[in-house]
Order: sequence, then C-alpha cells, then structure tokens
Amino acid sequence: MLTEEEIGKYKQAGKVVSGIKKDVLSKIRVGSRLLDIAEEMEKKISDGGARPAFPVNISINEIAAHFTPQVNDARTVKAGDLVKIDMGAHIDGYIADMAFTWCSEKNDLIRASTDVLQAGIDAVRPGARVSDISLAISKAIEGAGFGPIVNLTGHSLGRYKFHGGVSIPNIPNENGYVLQHGDVVALEPFVCETAGRVDDSGPVEIYQFAQRRPVRSMEGRKILQLAENDFGGLPFAKRWLVRHITPIRVKMAILELERVNALRSYPVLKNMEGGKIAQAEHTIIVADEPIVTTL
Ligand code: MN
Ligand code: MN
Repeated sequence: MLTEEEIGKYKQAGKVVSGIKKDVLSKIRVGSRLLDIAEEMEKKISDGGARPAFPVNISINEIAAHFTPQVNDARTVKAGDLVKIDMGAHIDGYIADMAFTWCSEKNDLIRASTDVLQAGIDAVRPGARVSDISLAISKAIEGAGFGPIVNLTGHSLGRYKFHGGVSIPNIPNENGYVLQHGDVVALEPFVCETAGRVDDSGPVEIYQFAQRRPVRSMEGRKILQLAENDFGGLPFAKRWLVRHITPIRVKMAILELERVNALRSYPVLKNMEGGKIAQAEHTIIVADEPIVTTL
C-alpha cells in the first residue's frame, strides 16, 4: 500500500511529465534538433520541481529505446520519422515513466500504440494477473493488424527503482503475479507492422551506477560518485558528465568504470527485423479506480 503522501509524489511527478509532453507536441517539427529537444525537456523537469529519472530517450524508426543524443549531436527530425520520446521524472524517488510517438505525417502505428496502451490500462485493477494485462495488450495489437516487439516489456516501479521486480510483457504469457492495491506499473506496448525483436546496437550513451569499486582515476571516482549520489543510482547520459569533466576524460573514465563493472551500460536497442516502431507508455497506480499519473 502507498501513503497519501507517496501517491501525491507519484501524481506530481506525472503532472510534470505530462505538461512537458504537451509542450513538446506543440513545438516539435521536421528539422528540430534531437539534442535541443532532450535538453529542453530535461531542463523543464528540473524547472517543474522534479528530477530526470533517466535521460530523455529519442528513439527513431527501427530504434526501439535507449537512444539519447550525444554531446554536440547534430541529428534532426526528418519527414516521416517515427520519433519515440520516452521520458521519466521523479520526486523523491517516486517515478513517472511515459512515452509517446510523433510523426510529421498521419501514421497508423502511432494511433495503434495509443489504442493498445488504453486496452492495457483498462485491464489494470487490483486482482488482475500480469498475464491478463499482457493478453489485453496482445489482443489489441493483433486486432489492429500489427505485431509487437516480443522482447520488450512494461514493468512495475519502486522508489528509485525502474524495475520493481515485475515485468509485463506485450505478448501472451503465464505470469500469475496478481496486482495489488498500491502497486505502480508502467505499461509500454511497442507496435510494428510485423512482430519484431530488439537486440543491442551501438554506441552506448546511457549508464547507471552498478556497484562501488576501487577506481584509479580521479575522473572515474568523480563519475561513480555522481552516478550513485547526484543521479540517485538512476540511469544518466554521458553528455550530463561534460558539465563536470572534459569529454575526452569522460570517455577514458567510463572505459575504466565499465572494465571493473562499476557501471551498467544501456546499449541502443534496435529492431532486428528492421521495421519501424511506435511506442506509447503511461504510469499507473493500481487502485479500485486506477490512477494514470502521466495523463
Ligand atoms: Mn519509459
Ligand atoms: Mn518504462
């Protein structure tokens, strides 16, 4: 169960995120720089009294997730691109996780992703099994005439935790975990023309604190301290580090930290079948009247 105060923090984080979504949708256009979008969104999270729960992901077309712009990234939005923006904010560790897809043209995959997400949300209630929610999502994807990304899932959320231990697949499964009052879940169907599967693709721009390890370089120790404390043990972008350390030293220090397993890395995830992907995601507090915090 959650206290009223905890529910309040989840809702406040959700409100910050949904306000930023509206702002992005009113401004994004062909030619927008991905780096500008990400940095402006991250600044607005702080201005809104929350903190980024992870770097803004802007994953385009067959890239499913974990792409965030690099330092000085010049890439822009192109006509017809499926631009998936996944953002997270937290207040005191209570996370709002939300994603949406934008395209310069009308796109059936985007429409389907929001319909499928709604079908999943409609299945959320105390007593529902994970398998019930997955089935609702999976049927909706099939009903729209599309396919899922078979190896990406929704998940439960915990305080300062992205994966609270429960995965919610977008394909049928036998997971009998029963949702409880006060569970918090993020549902995130990925929809493509035909079923796809993602795998790691380079380069890595997102990292997360894994464990304290002896580190030789001063920069390595600084990054590990930022990762554990300033970023709250949550994922961060390499570009966030250049406020503290020069890019060349960041690169070397990260190599050292990876070598000693002090950091976890998040490689870009790409659809190996090659198809374009649309994604939609909301965070939901399980209750008799489920609360979608990110609406
Ligand atoms: Mn997300
Ligand atoms: Mn998520």
